[in-house]
Formats: sequence, C-alpha cells, structure tokens
Amino acid sequence: MAPPESRPKDSAPPGAARRLLSRLLGHRRRIALVTVLGAGAAAASAVSVGSVIPVLHVLLARDGDALASLSALGGVGAAAARVLAPLGAMDRSGALVAVVVVLVVAAMVGAAFAFAHDVAASILSQRVQTELAEDLYDRVTGHDERTLRRMGMGDLTARFTYDLDMAGKACDTFVSTLVVEPLTALFYFAIALSLSWQLTLLAAVLVPAMLLLARQLGARTRRSAEGFLEKRGELLSRVQETASALPIVQVYGQEGRERRRFRDVTERVRAWGRRLARLEAVNSPATEIAGVCALAPVLLVGGGMVIDGSLEPAAFLGVFVTLVSFYAPIRKSIGASNRLQGGIAGAGRIFAAMDLRPEVTERAGAAEFPPMREGLAWRGVTVTYADGRTALRDVTADVPARKTTALVGPSGSGKTTFLLMAARLVDPTGGSLALDGRDVRGATLASLRGRIAIVTQEPRLFGGTLAENIAYAKPDASEAEIAAAARAARVDEIVARFPRGLATPLDECGHGLSGGERQRIAIARAVLRDPEILLLDEPTSALDPENERLVRQSLAELSKGRTTLVVAHRAETVLAADHVIVLRGGSVEAAGPPGSVTASSPTFRELFGAGRAESGA
Ligand code: ADP
Ligand code: MG
Repeated sequence: MAPPESRPKDSAPPGAARRLLSRLLGHRRRIALVTVLGAGAAAASAVSVGSVIPVLHVLLARDGDALASLSALGGVGAAAARVLAPLGAMDRSGALVAVVVVLVVAAMVGAAFAFAHDVAASILSQRVQTELAEDLYDRVTGHDERTLRRMGMGDLTARFTYDLDMAGKACDTFVSTLVVEPLTALFYFAIALSLSWQLTLLAAVLVPAMLLLARQLGARTRRSAEGFLEKRGELLSRVQETASALPIVQVYGQEGRERRRFRDVTERVRAWGRRLARLEAVNSPATEIAGVCALAPVLLVGGGMVIDGSLEPAAFLGVFVTLVSFYAPIRKSIGASNRLQGGIAGAGRIFAAMDLRPEVTERAGAAEFPPMREGLAWRGVTVTYADGRTALRDVTADVPARKTTALVGPSGSGKTTFLLMAARLVDPTGGSLALDGRDVRGATLASLRGRIAIVTQEPRLFGGTLAENIAYAKPDASEAEIAAAARAARVDEIVARFPRGLATPLDECGHGLSGGERQRIAIARAVLRDPEILLLDEPTSALDPENERLVRQSLAELSKGRTTLVVAHRAETVLAADHVIVLRGGSVEAAGPPGSVTASSPTFRELFGAGRAESGA
C-alpha cells in the first residue's frame, strides 16, 4: 500500500486562516446575530444546568426551608433563591416542582435559540462559500487560458467543489461552534467559580495543556487535509483528461494503463484520508482523557473536603456537575478547531488559485485607442513561455491596416503566438507590439479587444442555441442580423437541417456537430462582430474542400477593408493576401508581397511547392 507523501505539494499560502476569517468578518451583522442567538442558547443551557443545583439542594437540604438553604449556598444558589422568592416560603416538594418547571422552560427556550442559531449560521456560511466561488470565478475569467491549463482543469473544478465545500463547513463550524462553545464554557466557569473558586481553578489547570495539544493536532490535520484535497483534485484531472481523449485511449488500447494510473491516485486519496480520519479520531479520546485527568483531582480534593465536613455534599455535587459541563464545550471547541483546519486547507487552495497572477493585465492609466489608421508593428519581439520555451525570437514585422496579411510557416514556428499577441492574449517578454505607433499595452483591454474578431483552429462553442452562439459577442443582435451572419458563414445549410432552425439548442460545446460545422458557426460569430481587426488561425483547416472553398469566399468577403491576419495553410489564401510574413523557428524568414516572398523564401517553397504557389493552384 503506497504511503502518502510526507508533505502535500502545494501548501496553502500563509494567512489562509486570516483571509478566511476576514471574509467571514465582512458579515459583521450576521455574525452578531449568530452570536447573540448562540449566547441565548448557551445561557438557556446554563440555566438548565444551574437549576440542577437547586434540585440537588432541595433534595439534600437538612432543614425544612428549601429557599433559605438555597440562599445559604451563595452564587447561583442565592440567585435561584431570589428568582423563586415570590413563590413564598415553600416546602421541599413545592420548590422541587418550581425548579423542574424552570428546567423545562429553559430547555425549550434554549432549543428555540439553538434552532434559530443553526439556521443563521448556515445561511452565513453559505454566503461566504458562494462569495468565494464568485470571486474565484471572476479571477478565472480574467486569467489566460494557459495558466489555468497548467493548473489542470480537473484540479480547478476541485477547487470549486471539494475545497469550497470544506471551506464552507469550516465557516459553519467557526460561527456555530467556536463562538458559542467557548461562551458556554465561560458561563459554566463563572457558575463554578461562584460556587467554589478553589475547586474550579484546580479543574482549569489542564485547560492550557489541552489547547496546546489541540494546536499540535490542528497543524497535522491541516497538512493531511491539504494532501487529501490535492489528490482529490488530481483525481478529477485524470477523469477530465481521459474522458476528453477516449478515442485515443481506446484505439491504442490503453484503458488498462489509465485505470492503473487512476487507482494510483485513488490509493493516495485513501492514504491521506486515513491519516486525516486517524487525526480526527484521536481528537475525541485525547480530550476525553485530558478532561478526566483534570476532574480527578477535583474529586479527590472536593471529596476530602466533604469527608472532613468543610464542604456541603450538595455544594460539592453542584460544583462537580458544573465542572463536568464546563469541560463539554471545551472538548467541542477543540474538536471544532481541528475540523476547522480542513476548511482552512480548502480555503488555502482557493486563495492559491486566486493568487495566480495572470500574465496579461491592464495597466493603470490605460487609454482608449482610436480606430487604427496605419497598422500593427512588431518590434524586436521575443516571447518566452513560462516553461522556458521561446516561441518568437526578435521578431520585427508589420501588419498594415485594412490589408490582408498571411502568416505562413511550419508548425511550431510561432504563428499562433504571433497572432494571439494582436489581441493581447499573449504579451511579449521582450520588445513591443505597437498599434499606430503606440504600445498596445497602453490600451484598455476593452478598447483593444473590442475591435477584434478571432476564429481559432479549434472552434469553441457554448451550451445555448445556435443563435446565441452566433450572437455571442453581440447579445442584442436582431434576428435579421443573426440570419445574415449565418448566411455569410454558410451556417444556413446547418440551420436548414434542424426543424427549430436558429433556435436549436446545442449541447455542451456543440459536440453534436462536426468540426467543420462548428467552425462555420464560429465564423458567423466573427461576421456579426463586424470587427476592425480579424484574426484567423487556420480557420478552414477542418473543412472539406467544398466547404472550405465556400467559407474562404465568405472570409474573403468579410476581410474586405479590414485588417486581417490569417494563418494560412493553402497557397490560394497566401497568394490572395496583400502581404506575407514567413516564420521559421520563431524568427521572420521573409516578408513582403506574395510575389517577392515566393521567390525569396525557401520555407515558402518547401511548404507550398514553387510550382503550385506560382500557378496559384
Ligand atoms: P504554430 O502556431 O506556428 O504551430 P505556436 O505559436 O503555437 O506555433 O508555438 C510556437 C512554439 O511555442 C512551439 O514550440 C510551442 O511548443 C511553444 N508553445 C506554444 N504555446 C506554449 C505554451 N503555452 N507554453 C509553452 N510553450 C508553448
Ligand atoms: Mg498554430
């Protein structure tokens, strides 16, 4: 059986507990409400325990006047006697009934408070939980795709589910236990003190030791919870990866290997889970033993005092019952603080995901850029990805406005990276990209991206109808506009196949459609955007020749008068362009009008064949 690693890989960022707490404290009024309700419940339970003392006293009183002997008890006893005084001088059975009534009423009031408290506490923790989810989601939508992919989509999902759940439970535990129980303990402590301060202090000696033990256990619980959650994230990542590549797994017959890999992860999950369970299980007996050890001297000393007559038996019993009640909330608090550690581990993973720095951010003081007049200029641009791979090396190139520029080069030469830079989906690590002479990093993301439409190699569709997918960038588009865009991108043929037409709902990511069909919908989306700059990353590579010809015509129509940057894999597209940039190994090999590039670039001839390119076939 594989032992868990001694430490989880990515420990929660320091201060996770503090950050979770400060989010919780953002709801001061609700916390106050929960606390008041909890205090009410605690007070009611203190009254019910407190009323046991008069019961004892009444039953054990040597003389006839129960109230007088209650008063003689001092502390709570005296208070109880004052409360009961209006009932007049009572005999023992009358006092007994009165005390029992108090006990029952206090229990009922306490139950009502406890109910309201539980509801308020869980509303509060759900509030914090959904706010965490929303904040994380906000961050996710501002991230670049690659940063997220490095984390693993399954792991990201885990942060939204398991981790969030743990964090939410921690908040609930915190407000419902860690506020009320210590308060309850304080109540009992005060009652016990009023009855016998010597015995109470004797009993409290071990409390600091228990808190220290709880700290130790808590730190280990947090580490185990981190490991547990990390492995559960990995579990989801494995599912996600395998499910998205099933045809590959199946054709290459690797189901067995994937299952074994999955079992490796589940084994680790179990190992961390066992460790966590042991830590949680040791908590209760440890505090139980500590509690007994703390009360044993009280029994010895107090019992001795009863024997030598310096303490009333009823008083001793009262103190003892109160001290036992004092330990119960302390044990509960320690158990809760231990559970809280798991939640802090979950919150820590959420904060860690929130803290990932997106590589592209809007600068302070970024400006609205006016419509482009001259064009885009790459100047000495180098792009090195986080893993150290350099995709572009000292690239200097121009993309003139309102012209079509074709980008060619073998795969891996940096075409996609070059194209994504125009929308600031990738930023240069060296050099700069300028729009009409101004660095694009000086533009607001909205003013830069608002003028761009992009069609990527892999079309991305969303759940929703065909029409909603086409109108993604322009949700208020009229039906006529959507229909026109659909016609321009030859989506109307797809639409005609469905009885519900444009209102046909697509399943998640449009999986029910062919690659070519999805691509045409993505093109219709770009058409409707009516962009100033059009970025096309091999948009027709998934189409059959007939559709490709038709879509190429629509794209040619669409790119008229617009600044178009197209990664091309067909000689026709390249030769129809105004300007060509040839990339090789991340550097510009040649640039210029198609005619001159055909002659000067060996890569170009390699890719398209000199004869074919010249004939335009
Ligand atoms: P092309 O589109 O011409 O095939 P890309 O721009 O996609 O080329 O990639 C250029 C180089 O950068 C390749 O070597 C690729 O492996 C690398 N690369 C692309 N994206 C990333 C990334 N997110 N992280 C690390 N390397 C990357
Ligand atoms: Mg590419």
